[in-house]
Amino acid sequence: MPSTSGEKLLRLPPTVKPEERPDEIIARILPDTEDRRLLAQHLAQYGKNPEANWDDYRRKIPPALLAGLKEIGGEMRRNGFFGLGAEIDPSGRVRFTWWQAVDNRRKPPVIKGELCDACSRPCERKNSAGVFRDGARRCWQKEVSHNVKA
Ligand SMILES: [Zn+2]
Repeated sequence: MPSTSGEKLLRLPPTVKPEERPDEIIARILPDTEDRRLLAQHLAQYGKNPEANWDDYRRKIPPALLAGLKEIGGEMRRNGFFGLGAEIDPSGRVRFTWWQAVDNRRKPPVIKGELCDACSRPCERKNSAGVFRDGARRCWQKEVSHNVKA
């Protein structure tokens, strides 16, 4: 990242140390380049129109891509990334955008520093309110496999 003299480069620490970055998550869930391009185009199109309503817009997106989008969103939240969108640059290239939860040390962070804080993976170790039962291991504690229902 370029930095000019006199300008302090303040990088706030992320609240969660990610296990996977958004581009890795997106490529894992949508391995097909064409699927990724199409999803990014839809998100960019949706993002361009401030009047657009997601409940209406989502009907234009093929169901398989919508399912992928939902899974990507869940995996991103788990890793502390939010607000997946996309934009088209002047040369017509489309790229995904997102933001990362950071600790700004002023107000309490949205999530507090565990991969499971915003995790929406189905897990029998959580009770119906999404709270971990006592002694439950988290999905990133690798020695125990995650209870994902297929
Ligand atoms: Zn989890």
